[in-house]
Amino acid sequence: MNIAIIAHDSKKELMVQFCIAYCGILSRHNICATGTTGKLVSEATGLNIQRFLSGSQGGDQQIAARIACNEIDMLLFFRDPLNPKPHEPNEMNLLRLCDVHSIPLATNIATAEVLILGLERGDLDWRTIVNPGF
Ligand code: PGA
Repeated sequence: MNIAIIAHDSKKELMVQFCIAYCGILSRHNICATGTTGKLVSEATGLNIQRFLSGSQGGDQQIAARIACNEIDMLLFFRDPLNPKPHEPNEMNLLRLCDVHSIPLATNIATAEVLILGLERGDLDWRTIVNPGF
């Protein structure tokens, strides 16, 4: 499965801890991320992560483009709704595209845990039928 991860600055440490905790599961999948999030997580976990541009430079839109092509099977996006940043209006597009393609999406750690455990249990295997090429 192709899993995309993004974390706002105040949530990056949480994302790192999450990925350390679920490193075993994540290592069996293809992970991509926005620049800084991907760097921090790969340094902490040793996971092989395809890194896009930093979010402020359009990395979230690069991930959105893959979602638009239905190439992403799960998005873990730890958002900080209390400290909005200038480039964040683009994020609504990211979330909208997940809904267009029924892509599992977590915007906080509580949902992310449910998704990752569901992934491990095979609950998302239907994605391989929808998207056999990826
Ligand atoms: P970053 O992007 O991982 O490159 O920081 C995410 C964000 O927009 O905060």
